[in-house]
Amino acid sequence: MTDTKKPPAEMTPVEIDTELSRLWNEKDQAEARHLDLQAALHHHVGDKGRRVRGARHRVFDLSWERALELAIIKARAPYTEYESVVAREVERTLTNWAMARRKLDDIVAEIKPYTDEYTRRGGWNRVYLANSYDGHAHNGTECSTCHHGEERTQFAWLVRYSGLTEAEIVADAGWRACTTCYPSAPVGDRESLPSKMFTPDKEEAAQARAERDQARAQRAADKSAKGITAPGGGPLQGRHGTLETERAAVLEATQELSERYTNRRVDQLVEADPGMAPFFYPKDKRDRWEAEARGRALPLIEAVAHKRGTTVEAVTAELEPKAYAKAKRDMGGKDWAQRFRQTATLQREEYDAYTAACKAEGRKPFEALALRWYKFQ
Ligand SMILES: [Zn+2]
Repeated sequence: MTDTKKPPAEMTPVEIDTELSRLWNEKDQAEARHLDLQAALHHHVGDKGRRVRGARHRVFDLSWERALELAIIKARAPYTEYESVVAREVERTLTNWAMARRKLDDIVAEIKPYTDEYTRRGGWNRVYLANSYDGHAHNGTECSTCHHGEERTQFAWLVRYSGLTEAEIVADAGWRACTTCYPSAPVGDRESLPSKMFTPDKEEAAQARAERDQARAQRAADKSAKGITAPGGGPLQGRHGTLETERAAVLEATQELSERYTNRRVDQLVEADPGMAPFFYPKDKRDRWEAEARGRALPLIEAVAHKRGTTVEAVTAELEPKAYAKAKRDMGGKDWAQRFRQTATLQREEYDAYTAACKAEGRKPFEALALRWYKFQ
């Protein structure tokens, strides 16, 4: 419990019942532990107890007070080696029991302000959903229509309904509304009065299912929106495998088309400075690669055009400027020029000849690299 918590008088029924739900759960656990330790102490003093039909817990011959008294004596007054071993065991159980008792008292004290506030306000509506497939929604756990079976009815407390009007609760409960607890509830079945109430487990399952369905539908929609196939319907093959999306096809087609523009740039550089030719691949090779890249781009462009319901020409017209821009990015900038010079020095013989020629002609080597790119056409 933190100091920042609102006082119960300022809390809504949902806030109070949320706290109570947590605390009552803790109390149930603390009670169970407390009872286990009491039973262990009965055991220590030879009172084994027995199960009785209908009783929720073992029934012992000794009163709890008597059992506790005997346990304390046993823990404090050992006469033999064996007894001292037993005494330590009993002592430990006594300590655990005292701690469990203390914990239980603390929880009960923590609960009290909330139950007091509930009483002060004259109570409010609550919804307890009987934990079964055909479970009804009740206003409390002691409804006269419950607990008729062998076991007591188990409930899920739907605290989000706390403090709502009966009409609001009945509307959501549908066929589940208990007509004893909510007298205004109409009588109906699953079909005529659908319910929005589910036990927590069911509710989670229903929600998870809804989320999964939605995600699946979304993925399917995305796939048909972004997905791509070859015009004939089969998978669309790229250089490195199947292309799944239109975007992937566009990127790869652009890459292939950009081969033409890098090739034009090399032509431009070699034309400006024929001495640089040895540092590029021979023109026939470059032209062949360009043609091959065009060939690979075409089916991708066809697939994109097919998907968009447009022509190959229209897609090509869109991609060409992008391919040009890509070539400029790939083969431009100071970094690229730097790398190019660096690589050229590795061709020792050609490099020496070229730089010597430049010196003789009184110009700097590789000046052409600073040339503006030819215009896109
Ligand atoms: Zn009821």
